Amino acid sequence: MSNIALPKIDQSIIERKKNIFSKLKKLTAPENFLSHEAEIKPYETDALAAYKQMPLGVILPESTEEVSNILKFCYQENIKVVPRGAGTGLSGGALPLQDAILISLTKFNKILEIDFANKCVVAQPGVTNLSITHAVQHKGFYYAPDPSSQLACSIGGNVAENSGGVHSLKYGTTTNNILGVEIVLMDGTICRLGGKALDQEGYDMLGLICGSEGLLGVITEVTVKILKKPQTVKAALIGFPTHEDGG
Ligand SMILES: Cc1cc2nc3c(=O)[nH]c(=O)nc-3n(C[C@H](O)[C@H](O)[C@H](O)COP(=O)(O)OP(=O)(O)OC[C@H]3O[C@@H](n4cnc5c(N)ncnc54)[C@H](O)[C@@H]3O)c2cc1C
Repeated sequence: MSNIALPKIDQSIIERKKNIFSKLKKLTAPENFLSHEAEIKPYETDALAAYKQMPLGVILPESTEEVSNILKFCYQENIKVVPRGAGTGLSGGALPLQDAILISLTKFNKILEIDFANKCVVAQPGVTNLSITHAVQHKGFYYAPDPSSQLACSIGGNVAENSGGVHSLKYGTTTNNILGVEIVLMDGTICRLGGKALDQEGYDMLGLICGSEGLLGVITEVTVKILKKPQTVKAALIGFPTHEDGG
């Protein structure tokens, strides 16, 4: 396997870390900021475990306002940030950098609204993919994209990676199943894109965010479509004599 070249470490950030830590601790509850080696060790990698690197610090905000203030501060101080959902990504997107703050979204773990009439769910980004289906299945609904990591992966991570699964053959990937997001841009600006309705006017900014791997901002809320479960499900096996015949 060839090694990925990680960005050069900005030593000026490392030298200022005490000052940076004390300022970040004021932007959330002090216990939501981690910097001791034993505390940040679990964040040193994601599911691409061949690569490991300790972050400068880990912050676990609890509200969109906190995310906005953290990003505003990091933007002004030229500090890199890496958003992290459940850390199941296989492309190293949540891999920390030694001079970067890792923003973990695990405290954003609530389903905010279930709207059966409009067939959608509004969820915080740390909610797991499967728990959306669990929340609506009593009324015969489900959330279609089903990555095989769905028990653990977060809906925010799904948006950032445009994840899909077996159901995607019929229903598409995450980009075809979300209606709106709240995202905090890297300078701290809070934006709402889309909503509960299909095809909002203007440019398809939602399509741009979906699959952007945490590079454009931190997603703080996601509105997903839910579908009615089919009355019957049947498995079919089709054989083709050659790959070409199979398409
Ligand atoms: C066993 C296994 C099976 C898998 N199967 C599939 C599969 O079938 N289909 C598939 O598509 N993937 C699959 N994956 C990959 C992975 O689960 C998905 O990419 C998933 O969407 C990642 O979600 P996460 O919450 O773990 O994100 P993380 O790994 O934490 O992060 C992934 C990326 O998203 C960004 N990110 C996370 N949260 C946010 C946020 N709130 N705002 C902005 N950016 C954010 C991170 O910066 C990073 O770039 C699998 C992984 C494993 C380990």
